[in-house]
This record gives sequence, structure tokens and C-alpha cells, in this order.
Amino acid sequence: MKTIKVSVVTPDGPVYESDVEMVSTKALSGELGILPGHIPMVAPLQIGAVRLISGGNTEYIAVSGGLLEVRPEQVTILAQAAEVSYEIDVDRALKAKERAENLLHQQKQENVDFKRAELALKRAINRLDVAGK
Ligand code: ATP
Repeated sequence: MKTIKVSVVTPDGPVYESDVEMVSTKALSGELGILPGHIPMVAPLQIGAVRLISGGNTEYIAVSGGLLEVRPEQVTILAQAAEVSYEIDVDRALKAKERAENLLHQQKQENVDFKRAELALKRAINRLDVAGK
């Protein structure tokens, strides 16, 4: 099986690097599947899971948006935050989810930044999804 090198990088440093047979994730424009030999491209990502398939195994990484760049020999994902499934602190994500939900339910408060709370909720739900895989 042909493989392609994948690196996931955040401002805190590299999170993951491996050779895989397929990368799939959600771009803003929809589901994206990258196989070795894919044409070069750059795509903005949603808050979502990156699925990495290799040798019959699938690994999942939670990414908080960012950019995916495909070059002939390499896929690079630049994300504000990214965690491999088994590194996700489920308790922390549950607390973040609860905090965001509480903020979103305070509909009468004008000082609540709804957009920010919605994004925090999406990040938390994504982490919980990915941790459960
Ligand atoms: P919290 O409110 O719990 O900080 P957040 O969504 O605001 O969550 P981010 O700003 O996205 O957190 O991330 C800050 C840093 O903490 C990043 O390095 C990210 O990888 C890490 N991080 C956030 N939540 C978790 C988690 N549940 N498990 C492991 N690492 C996490």
C-alpha cells in the first residue's frame, strides 16, 4: 500500500507525525479524503475529527479548525489546538461543555459572547466524540 506522510502541528509544537494510507477530515467545504498522490491543495478545516488510516488501524485526532495543506509527499495540518484521541482529558471537555452550555442558556445577558461560547461548545463536543472512538 502506498503511504503519505502526515504532520499535525499546533502553536505549542508537533502533535502527530506518521505515514498513513489515507487522511480524512472535514473541510469547510465538506468531507475531504486524501490518498497518496492527491493533487496539491490548501483547505480550511472545521472543528472536527481527523481520521488516519494505516495498516488496518484507524487513529483519530480532534482538531479545533485550522488549515490542511497537501503537497506531493506530505499532508500538513496546522491547527490552533489538536489532541490525539487517547490524550483527551474527558473530564476537562465535559466541564468545558457545561460551561459553554450555561453561557448559551443565559439568553438575557447582553455581555455573553455567544459566538465564542458556541465555538467552545463545538470544541468540547468534538473532543468528547473523538475521545469515545
Ligand atoms: P478549556 O476551556 O478546557 O481550556 P478550550 O476549548 O478553551 O477548553 P483550547 O483553547 O482549544 O481549549 O486549548 C488550549 C490547550 O488545551 C490546547 O493545547 C489544547 O490541546 C488543550 N486542551 C483543551 N482541552 C483539552 C482536553 N479536553 N484534553 C486535552 N487537552 C485539551
